[in-house]
Amino acid sequence: MEKIRMKTPLVELDGDEMTRVLWPLIKEKLILPFIDLKVEYYDLGIQNRDRTDDRVTVEAAEAIIKYGVGVKNATITPNADRVVEYKLKKQWKSPNGTIRAMLDGTVFRKPIMVKNVQPSVRSWVKPIVVGRHAYGDVYRNAELYVEAGCKAELVVTDEHGVEKRELIHDFAEAGVIQGMHNTDASIASFARSCFEYSLDQKVDCWFATKDTISKIYDQRFKNIFEEIFNLEYKDKFKASGIEFFYTLIDDVVARIMKHEGGILWACKNYDGDVMSDMVASSFGSLAMMTSVLVSPKGYFEYEAAHGTVQRHYYKHLKGEKTSTNAVALIFAWTGALAKRGELDGIPELILFAQKLEKAVVQTIESGVMTGDLAAICSPPALRVVYSEEFLDEIAKNI
Ligand code: NAP
Ligand code: MG
Repeated sequence: MEKIRMKTPLVELDGDEMTRVLWPLIKEKLILPFIDLKVEYYDLGIQNRDRTDDRVTVEAAEAIIKYGVGVKNATITPNADRVVEYKLKKQWKSPNGTIRAMLDGTVFRKPIMVKNVQPSVRSWVKPIVVGRHAYGDVYRNAELYVEAGCKAELVVTDEHGVEKRELIHDFAEAGVIQGMHNTDASIASFARSCFEYSLDQKVDCWFATKDTISKIYDQRFKNIFEEIFNLEYKDKFKASGIEFFYTLIDDVVARIMKHEGGILWACKNYDGDVMSDMVASSFGSLAMMTSVLVSPKGYFEYEAAHGTVQRHYYKHLKGEKTSTNAVALIFAWTGALAKRGELDGIPELILFAQKLEKAVVQTIESGVMTGDLAAICSPPALRVVYSEEFLDEIAKNI
């Protein structure tokens, strides 16, 4: 069989632990037999990030800016334990945070639904897409531990050296502070990405913040969304029969539990991080959630929403077989390949991506699946398989 040719390389960002074990197997079993794969490879494994003082992460993001499409494996964001475990020079920043800061944009996470896994929230019969703002807030913060007897202030200095000050707290006892920021430009591109996604998928857009408490910060998000919607999108939404709806974050959390789904839920950075995990686990498993970073400048980065599946990796290191679900990683590849096909005008590449996704869904719906899905599927699984066997079954179905 002749392999499908590519024109432009995909930027491939490798990662850590169990997902690093699965990554080459996905390529070997499901992609390389069909595609004459062109990639530019960056090793974002924690050891290489440490060796290069994290330069490799910046270089990978620059390559995505150069070529337009990246596919990323899950990576460790080191905490104090990881510094000891991997003998790191320091607690490197989250690679996703670094990349998102360079590309800007919004992360859209959409569950992959299969017939034999019913969402634990019974009313959710359609996918809930979480649109996560991918810039700023707590992910680009400055933090300090404050000794007792100190006064903490916010200080803003303009170009003439004129200061504005706001007391944060007079610390009679020791404590902590943090400063966060966002920019009008980034919030505006977040709003536009969400409205564009809603129009493209013909789904309502819900947006929520805590503007009753955060009267300047969160209210800025609310106002920018409303301004852009009224000026640029109101008529288009009306014509498409969809709605934009703003409310408080607590109100959305309450409403969503009774809703049928089929909406885009636009979330600030932290809300999106947390809520997408909740939505994913209701729809089955973290491994059944796709994730794409859409940059306002036209760059795309596809990844899985889950992490490096550390617990499974430790079993793997002990020589035990694991039943780790590779679906989200596979969909990261199909998403990236299809986008490359779209940008480069290669319809066979798009068709291949669709067929691979279909083969994955068919495999699970035929009753063959990994342990995470077997625990929640109905009717019960016919065969619960190990990671590698699952990939072999999908390969058969292609
Ligand atoms: P995780 O890797 O997402 O795993 C959390 C748990 O979810 C696992 O222990 C497993 O449950 C289940 N799970 C997740 N993915 C699965 C899969 N593909 N198949 C089967 N089960 C799956 O999160 P974590 O353990 O909190 O984080 C581990 C590392 O990943 C951390 O170092 C963190 O920094 C990093 N991380 C990276 C990203 C990213 O690169 N995008 C995102 C999140 C976390 P059971 O153990 O019960 O089977
Ligand atoms: Mg998360």
